[in-house]
Amino acid sequence: MSAPLLEIEDLCLAVPGQAGERPLLRGVDLVVGAGEVVSIVGESGSGKSLTARAVMGMLPDGAKTAGSIRLAGTSVLAASGNELRALRSQRVAMVFQDPRAHINPVRRIGDYLTEAVTAVGGVSGSAARARAIELLTATQIEDPAGIMSRFPHELSGGMLQRVMIAGALMGEPEMLLADEPTTALDVTTQAEVMAILARLRRDFELAILFITHDLELAAAFADRTAVMYAGRIVEEAPSAVLHEHPEHPYTVGLLRSRPSLGHGTGRLEAIRGRPIEAAEVSGGCAFAPRCGFAEPRCLTEDPRLLPHGAGTVACLRAGELGQVEERSHA
Ligand code: SF4
Repeated sequence: MSAPLLEIEDLCLAVPGQAGERPLLRGVDLVVGAGEVVSIVGESGSGKSLTARAVMGMLPDGAKTAGSIRLAGTSVLAASGNELRALRSQRVAMVFQDPRAHINPVRRIGDYLTEAVTAVGGVSGSAARARAIELLTATQIEDPAGIMSRFPHELSGGMLQRVMIAGALMGEPEMLLADEPTTALDVTTQAEVMAILARLRRDFELAILFITHDLELAAAFADRTAVMYAGRIVEEAPSAVLHEHPEHPYTVGLLRSRPSLGHGTGRLEAIRGRPIEAAEVSGGCAFAPRCGFAEPRCLTEDPRLLPHGAGTVACLRAGELGQVEERSHA
């Protein structure tokens, strides 16, 4: 891995709840190198989007945090408002699943793209406009100059996602956080947006933290993939290794529930039970109620994320799964 750009260490986050503090993240560890692409995969409520937002310093109201997030040497959790604004304009930017919720509907696209960089000073209006058109061109949107004078409601979802990606790159960040950027798009547009992200990554030497619920997409796009469950990363490895030789039973389950992966006999199996949130973990392994490999100690011992093979895994039985029998699903 290249020099670390983002270092998340033992990140815990809790918000006020009806019965005291409600934990949402339970000790997230993740490193992303300069120019590296890392995916975080998990079901809804696993904490993957929250982790990305925490990197931006976008914390829920009343959130209490522990652990650390260092981005390009700056502590995000200790940063002042001015330091956070500087990070967001120069170091890191984010694109979201639904661009319509994040682009002002009454402002022209050109204003949306240019006003953030002109507001921080040092960039003239004409330079910002030229960069905006250059970035729109890089996203392969039709008629980049003409798009500048249009309103969001005149553009399709795929076009708006390209606009949002261009907007994220206006400040020349070193890292892009992409939170399910293709989930709301049709399959063809999804593929186009993924190709654009891959090319931008190469052309701008961007690091990308890619958030998705789709393990196959994550593994195909990223250098490394991290799997998250109940507010913690449970497995992380080079994508090809994780895809071909998953070590955590949850990763195995995610792969089995996806079509066309060549795992098992081809029969798809949903992971039994329902995903739990960090607040529901009461001791022991959070995945134990759904795990076909659970043994008594899994109910009382909390597995930590430890080095294993080419990556890390949080399972008390890491390395045993190929040799022991899985309990059949109820
Ligand atoms: S620690 Fe136990 S319950 Fe948790 S994933 Fe490993 S085998 Fe399953």
